[in-house]
Amino acid sequence: MVHCPECDTTLDSMDDVAFDDTESRIGIVRASKRFYVVECAHCGYSLGSGVAGAGGGGGGAAGAH
Ligand SMILES: [Zn+2]
Repeated sequence: MVHCPECDTTLDSMDDVAFDDTESRIGIVRASKRFYVVECAHCGYSLGSGVAGAGGGGGGAAGAH
C-alpha cells in the first residue's frame, strides 16, 4: 500500500486519492493521452503524475478502471 509522505494516511482505495486532470491546463487537447496528477485526498499532497491514454499501459499506481 501507498502512504502519503505528508500526512501518513494509508492510501488504499481510490477514495483516498484525488486525480487532478491537467489536460486543459497544459493544452494538449488534441492528444489522445490525458495527463493527470495524483493528490492525497486528505491533505492535497501531490503524490505523482502520470498519463492515461488509449492503448497505453498507463501509470502503475492509478488503475482507475
Ligand atoms: Zn496526505
